[in-house]
Amino acid sequence: MDLFDNKKASPLAEDETNPFADLDDLDVELALDSLEMTTVRSVYDRQLLRELAPLLPYEVALANRAILLEKQQDGTFFVGMCSHKNLIHLSNVARAMRVSTKALHPRVLLPQRFERLLEEVYDLTVAQSDANSGDDTSDDQQQKSVDWNQFAEVQPEGRFEFDEREIEIGTGTGLRALAERIILNAIGQRASDVHLVPQYQEGYILFRTDGEMYKAYKNIPRPVMENLANAFCDMANVNAYQVAQDEVAREIQINIKTNSGRKDRRTLRFQGIPGQYGRIIVIRIQSNDFRGFHMIGLEESQITQIENSLFHKVGLCLVTGPTGSGKSNTLEAMLRKVEEIRPGRINIIQIGNPIEFPNPEREQIPLKTDEDWDRFFKATLRMDPDILSPGEFRNASEAGIVFQAAATGHLTLTTLHTNNVAQTCSRLDFLGIERDKQSSLLRLIASQELVPLLCPHCKEPDPNGPQIVDHLVNLIFPNRPDLRNALGGAKNLPFYRRVGCRRCNNRGIKLRTCIAEVLTVTPDISLMLRNKVDGQEIVNLAVRRHGMITIAEAAARKLCRGLIDYNDVVHLLMSTNEEAPENTSYSWQTQPIVENDLSTADDSDPDTNDYIDAEVIYEQEEPARVAA
Ligand SMILES: [Zn+2]
Repeated sequence: MDLFDNKKASPLAEDETNPFADLDDLDVELALDSLEMTTVRSVYDRQLLRELAPLLPYEVALANRAILLEKQQDGTFFVGMCSHKNLIHLSNVARAMRVSTKALHPRVLLPQRFERLLEEVYDLTVAQSDANSGDDTSDDQQQKSVDWNQFAEVQPEGRFEFDEREIEIGTGTGLRALAERIILNAIGQRASDVHLVPQYQEGYILFRTDGEMYKAYKNIPRPVMENLANAFCDMANVNAYQVAQDEVAREIQINIKTNSGRKDRRTLRFQGIPGQYGRIIVIRIQSNDFRGFHMIGLEESQITQIENSLFHKVGLCLVTGPTGSGKSNTLEAMLRKVEEIRPGRINIIQIGNPIEFPNPEREQIPLKTDEDWDRFFKATLRMDPDILSPGEFRNASEAGIVFQAAATGHLTLTTLHTNNVAQTCSRLDFLGIERDKQSSLLRLIASQELVPLLCPHCKEPDPNGPQIVDHLVNLIFPNRPDLRNALGGAKNLPFYRRVGCRRCNNRGIKLRTCIAEVLTVTPDISLMLRNKVDGQEIVNLAVRRHGMITIAEAAARKLCRGLIDYNDVVHLLMSTNEEAPENTSYSWQTQPIVENDLSTADDSDPDTNDYIDAEVIYEQEEPARVAA
């Protein structure tokens, strides 16, 4: 069927089988064919338009207000354009399609018609058109079989359960609603990040939950990916076209009213960048779910160590760990403990980018960019603080200011990016902090890592148990007869592995636990610091003399309680030293026990169903730009 009739058609001609028949007068417009004005046929074959659409990327179509209408037998194209005489637009389209401008025959499209076609051709509003047609024409049948419907059938990769009706597309609420639903699903699955990844033909959406990525939606046709990217840009109040050119970062606040009426406020950090096959968008969902010391999986003795350090009035307590190791949660737990010890009597000044746990009882200073750090932190020193808590420090100049703050009569609590306690000393050396200062100011170094907890509903005994025992007893802890006895005497080996069930979204893990080591800077440790002793030797002494639990031992303990999978902690076990405490004051527990991290798991879990179809309320009309 030709798109264009050469004879004049009645502008009001109606075709009962035409799904667009009930559109308004704009439905028919004039096209310029050479110098003759001819009318454009009122029926566009949507199937054909959609087949042509992949030849012209959405961004180019949008920016140049052009839609491919028909491919001629000679390989040339009819292109509907709002400004058909604009040669720049025409050559942009030609370049994007990798054809000569001579291969393009522009036709006039009224702007309103263009908008509608753009949505129809690159969009998902299939159900709406189906409803309009209202009959069972063959055209309609075709519509149901086109790829565009596919998204409605896209199943989450896992066995995440939700009412299928809820994710169906085309309820008339548009792509923005779909984008919101994806965010709500992500929050329901406790995801920290949502990744929109376009590929050559099909794209996918990844969630990161408990530190691990998984495909939440797959086989999404490329044009749908592009439209979803637009919807996410729209949600973040970002210019969609700009993201196709350059990196863009935004922060938005959303309020969610869940089905049960609970109100939940979240900060989303939007990051977009042009990728090989379209815009890659990552949305970080800031979680302000706080967990206290007893809920994060620290050993009892470690909690005592940390809490005791908070009675100091001067000095520095450091929380260290790699990215995403829960340092800020631990820092927050320390601040809350300080507030508990000295309620209402101290001034806590916090600076950070961002402030993760808003608190009306504190002076909190959010940084607009990381460059503000020096200036703002120096200013806070003059603001009569008792406790100073910068979110982190990263370079020599910041390290210098942090130690200066600790030296001038303030207890300073902050975080640093290192992997363990031993490494922290050499890192501070590297940052130019003299050992004299480390020796006199450091009060505590806690180092931590988060490890996924096995889903208690589906974990199963690990068939590699005997090898794990061998590894632990002979290789990792050869000097620990207490461990050898505990494991040797175990009737059933306590090791479990991942399986996957409905309750854990088929991933075998649910929530994470903290694997930590905590060094209290006692007078003997302080002396070693002053004498420039290597960090590892300091840790060895702390293990022998003070029974310090290393990260390797903390990992082994959780392993012996059947809480974690061996494969998730092999790298932590490797980092061990062969020292043993001089007097073992604690015993290994090899029976699975109900731990705090587990007992709280279900309570603190957001109820997924509560988020499906929840209402999103946007608070900030003009979001502030965040530092990349
Ligand atoms: Zn499970």
